[in-house]
Amino acid sequence: MEKICVAVRVRPSVSSESFNGAYWNVEDNRISLHRLHGTPISGLSYTFDHVFDESSTNARVYELLTKDIIHAAVDGFNGTAFAYGQTSSGKTFTMNGSETDAGIINRAVKDVFAKIQMISDREFLIRVSYMEIYNEEINDLFSVENQKLQIHESLERGIFVSGLREEIVNNAEQVLKLIELGEVNRHFGETNMNVRSSRSHTIFRMVIESKGKDTNSSGDSSSVDAIRVSVLNLVDLAGSERIAKTGADGVRLKEGKHINKSLMVLGNVINKLSEGAKQRGHIPYRDSKLTRILQPALGGNAKTSIICTIAPEEVHIEETKGTLQFASRAKRITNCAQVNEILTDAALLKRQKLEIEDLRKKLQGSHAEVLEQEILKLRNDMLKYELEREKLATELEEERKSHKERDQCIREQQMKIDNLSNLVSFSDLDRNSNQGQGSARQSLKEECSESSVHQGDAFSTPCFKADPKAFVVKRSNYSTLPDYSPLPDTFSNVADEDTWQKMNKGYMADLDSLQMTPARKVQSFPSNDITPRKHAEQIMLNHQLMDEISKLQQEAKLIQEIPQRLSESVGNCKDVYEDILSIVQSFVSDGESSTAKLLSSTSEIGKSLFTTLETHFSMAMDDRSSSTGNNFLIQEQCKVLYEKLNSTITSLVSSETPSSENEEARAQLCSCGNKGCTQGGETACWKEELSNELNTIKERYYGLEKELDHNNQLLVVSKERYDSLEREFRLLKEDRDLLHQMVSDSSQKLSLVTDQKENVLKDLNTEVRRRKNLEEEIKQFSVAFASRQRSLASFHSDINSNCEKLRTQCLVSLPKSRGC
Ligand code: ADP
Ligand code: MG
Repeated sequence: MEKICVAVRVRPSVSSESFNGAYWNVEDNRISLHRLHGTPISGLSYTFDHVFDESSTNARVYELLTKDIIHAAVDGFNGTAFAYGQTSSGKTFTMNGSETDAGIINRAVKDVFAKIQMISDREFLIRVSYMEIYNEEINDLFSVENQKLQIHESLERGIFVSGLREEIVNNAEQVLKLIELGEVNRHFGETNMNVRSSRSHTIFRMVIESKGKDTNSSGDSSSVDAIRVSVLNLVDLAGSERIAKTGADGVRLKEGKHINKSLMVLGNVINKLSEGAKQRGHIPYRDSKLTRILQPALGGNAKTSIICTIAPEEVHIEETKGTLQFASRAKRITNCAQVNEILTDAALLKRQKLEIEDLRKKLQGSHAEVLEQEILKLRNDMLKYELEREKLATELEEERKSHKERDQCIREQQMKIDNLSNLVSFSDLDRNSNQGQGSARQSLKEECSESSVHQGDAFSTPCFKADPKAFVVKRSNYSTLPDYSPLPDTFSNVADEDTWQKMNKGYMADLDSLQMTPARKVQSFPSNDITPRKHAEQIMLNHQLMDEISKLQQEAKLIQEIPQRLSESVGNCKDVYEDILSIVQSFVSDGESSTAKLLSSTSEIGKSLFTTLETHFSMAMDDRSSSTGNNFLIQEQCKVLYEKLNSTITSLVSSETPSSENEEARAQLCSCGNKGCTQGGETACWKEELSNELNTIKERYYGLEKELDHNNQLLVVSKERYDSLEREFRLLKEDRDLLHQMVSDSSQKLSLVTDQKENVLKDLNTEVRRRKNLEEEIKQFSVAFASRQRSLASFHSDINSNCEKLRTQCLVSLPKSRGC
């Protein structure tokens, strides 16, 4: 376990004004705020691993703060160095340097290669990449077309940026040239704080792979030697100041928000990590791209150093305090770095080794430099293809995933629609099966089915009854989604205003605007971003709808039975009435008497009244739409009957004299049962009796009428409910069609991607063939070379033998000549 190395660097003052109130005093590794006359202000003194004053050079900063990390990276440890501070405090100056004083990146690159040169027993493969995070989007600085890249995680590679261009390099100059190229693509913003202020975070990354050189005499290069893979991140963060000071608006403001988001998350992560392992809890690395990429460097397997740059001017005191507090918290973080040794194929070096080694052996001795270049080119080509393949594979995987999700969603929607359709048709069937119980059901069914066909038409009679409010609430939850989604859930962790305020002593002004940050449009129905929570909500909603529909069906059934029951009770009443009349008539022997006339008139009126009621009920059951009109008709009819009855009674009372034979019957009929009633009294009794009866009938009628009204109201409510259901149903259908469309679109895309993949594979094959040909040529060349060598050797031996022969000849001829 080792602590993160934290240093503070004070940039030279650019203001010609002398200090009026306070100044930052640097003494050894301590920085403190002093009053003008020299006394320190209590509570504002900080100690760090190093504090660099205004006169410090980048060389010194590199030497003391970063060098060890760089060397460790060559030895297989992950390493990260990043610069934090407000705009114009010297972050870029520290990382990139100036013409006269090279920055940390430049020095690190040179140092890596110098160190490699010194290690003779290992071979290295180095690749570099350069990216920026701008508006929470990752862009490739080596390749402008690689924009909005995604972060992925795999067992083999850990956290990586998919599609990011990596270049294999074999010397420092190559890297520096690439960085220069990348700088051109950076987003520079003009604010009134710093004309060339970067509004983006940049990460320069070196992946260093190394392997012990093969000392095995047998030349078995495939021995299971572990490969070290380390990642070195050199990060230049965007300004940490509040936006208000930059005078930012419009585009700048948007940039600022994202910068703050990333820095806020970084602050939160540092804050959590500084709390110590026990209290730590969840660390929100995933809340921003920056922290996700730097995850291993923060609180993980990495040696990390942070340089916090500050501006000495008095106007910046508040921001400087914030930077120093950030630095203090970062100082408490401990990391646990270890050499990354891997045995799998994840190491590029391992994957490329055999082929490259083969080539190298074959090419040894001949035009070494050109051929080294060729090898490098080949290596880069291979890497490019690998990256391309990986990118395509990721895209394919994502496409498959979203395809699956959409499929699932469609299935659920289809089920929902089927359920609804089943319910609707079930209720229709139910009504059909009960058709025999009365024509009212038939009419009800027709109306329902008709309404589903002519959905736009006005509903004359509703089919169901329900509490409309309950539905409206659910419907609004479901369909009237806001135009813009709220902040993503994960981000709510981050927007911890208190923490940030504490961390920065209250000068993080962008918290308000943060509320508006990711203006992510959402569709009214599931698209690519369907979440399981949304699914669960929809399923719940579906269940609720089902419940409501079944309740409605029960209620509708009850309502349908009302007219039938009413008609039955009217029938009963009619029977009782006819019984009474026949009894009364049996007492009247003389058909011509006034009592008989009165009775027949009453019987007629009664019959007519009951017929009217029966007609009304049968009409109500046949056609509910006309029930309101019928009510009016019945009222009219009733009035007429009432008047008729009154006039009959009056005419009887005024014109007729009572006959003695009827007296007894009258006396019996008289409800008062008083036989001694006088004739006038009897008539009055009769009249009273009849009017009482009429009143009872009227009351019953009004009761029935009220009941009908009530039922009609219930039916109207049901109709509205049914309408809503119909609308809902239509919407679901539309959504389903939309989803179908989306699925077919993505299938097309998928096939396109598959085609592309095939093309790339074809290219790859061609390249492999090309390389094989090249190898073949080299082989031929080697064979030719060997045969030439052989012929040269034989030539040489010929010459030697000839020389030998000549020499012996000479030696023989010389003594001979001497002898002569
Ligand atoms: P930042 O990246 O933090 O916004 P810069 O690195 O661009 O700030 O610095 C702002 C200005 O200050 C630049 O002109 C830079 O050259 C200058 N500067 C910063 N630090 C130093 C330093 N230590 N020595 C000399 N000049 C510096
Ligand atoms: Mg900068």
